[in-house]
Amino acid sequence: MKDVRLETKCVQGGYTPQNGEPRQIPIVQSTTFKYATSEDMGKLFDLEASGYFYSRLQNPTCDTVAAKICAMEGGSAAMLLSSGQAASFFSIFNIASAGDHVVSSSSIYGGTYNLFAVTMKRMGIDFTFVSPDCTDEELNAAFQPNTKAVFGETIANPALTVLDIERFAKAAHAHGVPLIIDNTFATPVNCRPFEFGADIVTHSTTKYMDGHGVAVGGCIVDSGNFDWTAHADKFPGLCTPDESYHGITYTEKFGQGGAYITKATAQLMRDFGSTQSPQSAFYLNLGLESLHLRMERHCFNGQKVAEYLESDNRISWVNYPGLPSNKYYELAKKYMPNGTCGVVSFGVKGGRAAAEKFMKALKMIAIETHVADARSCCLHPASATHRQMNEQELIAAGIPGDLIRLSCGIEHYQDLIDDIRAALDTL
Ligand SMILES: *Cc1c(COP(=O)(O)O)cnc(C)c1O
Repeated sequence: MKDVRLETKCVQGGYTPQNGEPRQIPIVQSTTFKYATSEDMGKLFDLEASGYFYSRLQNPTCDTVAAKICAMEGGSAAMLLSSGQAASFFSIFNIASAGDHVVSSSSIYGGTYNLFAVTMKRMGIDFTFVSPDCTDEELNAAFQPNTKAVFGETIANPALTVLDIERFAKAAHAHGVPLIIDNTFATPVNCRPFEFGADIVTHSTTKYMDGHGVAVGGCIVDSGNFDWTAHADKFPGLCTPDESYHGITYTEKFGQGGAYITKATAQLMRDFGSTQSPQSAFYLNLGLESLHLRMERHCFNGQKVAEYLESDNRISWVNYPGLPSNKYYELAKKYMPNGTCGVVSFGVKGGRAAAEKFMKALKMIAIETHVADARSCCLHPASATHRQMNEQELIAAGIPGDLIRLSCGIEHYQDLIDDIRAALDTL
């Protein structure tokens, strides 16, 4: 489904039923698959033939939904994972190991920050964090001879900084490494990072893609544009024989467009088992079928609410990339001309205490760690998702202590504004 529009890919991508087959994607709720001979199955284990043998590695329902997201992003191959966290981890661990180094934007999701700065550091992978607004000199200075990738978020959760993808891609490529973009908040409806030079895209499908607060999941998409063999010394895992698969070399056997995802599936899924269940993949697909419609409303509501907040003098500041007053307005217009996301952050006059009182007074907007749901919800990151960070790290991540993150759902915007106004009246 390459030559149809994105909206059509949302609805029909990844699955074309043949005569008499189910119209909706089948849920293949089976851990295992039957073969006539041991030789048939042996070929699958050797990666000599493609097919299914055990759902820890691959499952037809998951692959169908991955193919849809792959088409939406314009990639060459994709895989589903059990969560966005698993996707972030696999995306880097697939090409970096102990002794390696990664450059990452400092403005990223709190869970990703912890994964990189604490857990992966313990595994021997070092990260240098750079501000998304750093100068080209600062960005280039962050690279080391052992750097294997650059990582950033299209629109960061929750700081809502917009990454200059072209600039980061240029720096990554000048140092012979790929740019990995977490495109969770923008979704491919609003931004397709491959069009701006990104090489790999990750998603927490838990957010807008699912969109109904139903299933945790993740996805990795490869653009197929990064030439691993041109930097073979940096990526031996892709460009030299894998002894755990009888000495196949991923780039030779699966080509530039298939090597990265095949390796992540054959090695990392085999060893870590971070698979998405076929039932969850089915729910995800239902979400994807309306993603283009919902994103439009999320963005519309985000804009209306941000404009209201900016006009209310009980609010100390508003951060929404769709506001002309926003620092990232121009970048957002370039990378996301149709809108950014439904998430707005702001501070209430009176700081942390007022923020907590305000949130308690909300009637319809619920306090949740979640975001990007059809139902509006809000969160105080400094006391929840980002509580591992000290004050300095919070500031580096663009999250002041009084920040309230409001995720505008797809209700009527006036009802959201009414709820906010009534809660402000109680202060
Ligand atoms: C939520 C989120 C993640 C982590 O995803 P999970 O599905 O919760 O594991 C990663 N990146 C971003 C931008 C997120 O919002």
